[in-house]
Amino acid sequence: MNSNLNLNKFEIQNELGQGSFSKVYKIRDKETNVIYAAKVIQNKHFIDFSISTEISILSHCNHPSIIKLIGYCSNDFNGKKDPVIITEYLQNGTLEDILEVERSGIKIPFWDDTMRLINIYGIASAMSYLHSKNIIHCDLKPGNVLLDDFLFPKLSDFGLSKSLDKTNEKERPQKQIGMIGTASFIAPEILKENKYSKKSDVYAFGMILFEM
Ligand code: ATP
Repeated sequence: MNSNLNLNKFEIQNELGQGSFSKVYKIRDKETNVIYAAKVIQNKHFIDFSISTEISILSHCNHPSIIKLIGYCSNDFNGKKDPVIITEYLQNGTLEDILEVERSGIKIPFWDDTMRLINIYGIASAMSYLHSKNIIHCDLKPGNVLLDDFLFPKLSDFGLSKSLDKTNEKERPQKQIGMIGTASFIAPEILKENKYSKKSDVYAFGMILFEM
């Protein structure tokens, strides 16, 4: 992992999407032509928390169903003080996109029961790996499951994640509840007491299974 990437080496191709705290761009390494994803963290209240947790967690993870961190830079492409996290690029969108298309009745090539099981197993295996390291994801939902060239899953978006070993970790910024596509994955104890745990991740995993 490169802890101070030179962003001049890359060229922005297009915007891939926008989260609550960030914008994600498709970028190209000008020398090698390899495509990556660049997440520019834009919410000022979220920056310190998100950047440190996401980078520290991703840099300690090595699992086929967890997105690979390439490096980060403390300034954005215009030199502004918005940190940028570069990861591998996954070209097939998210599990949420697939579920939405399916709901509209359109058949997706290669998305069959075997592929569904591969996704279920991949997500479970990644979550089991995270929990074995005492990390909780805290925002597990289909929109945070990216799909690779073979429609195999990779967990992403660790900005709200937490290491249970760090007792004096800063309090996580409250995520707005009621945001589309998120509320139904939040366990009741989080809504009542803001209590995140491995069990609340398991609840979110159960809701993904239900949706699938
Ligand atoms: P929120 O932060 O509110 O949970 P989100 O998960 O959609 O929202 P991001 O993780 O910032 O937010 O991602 C925004 C979108 O960018 C994703 O939905 C996805 O479509 C796209 N995206 C993110 N990372 C990648 C990647 N590595 N490769 C390809 N597309 C990506």
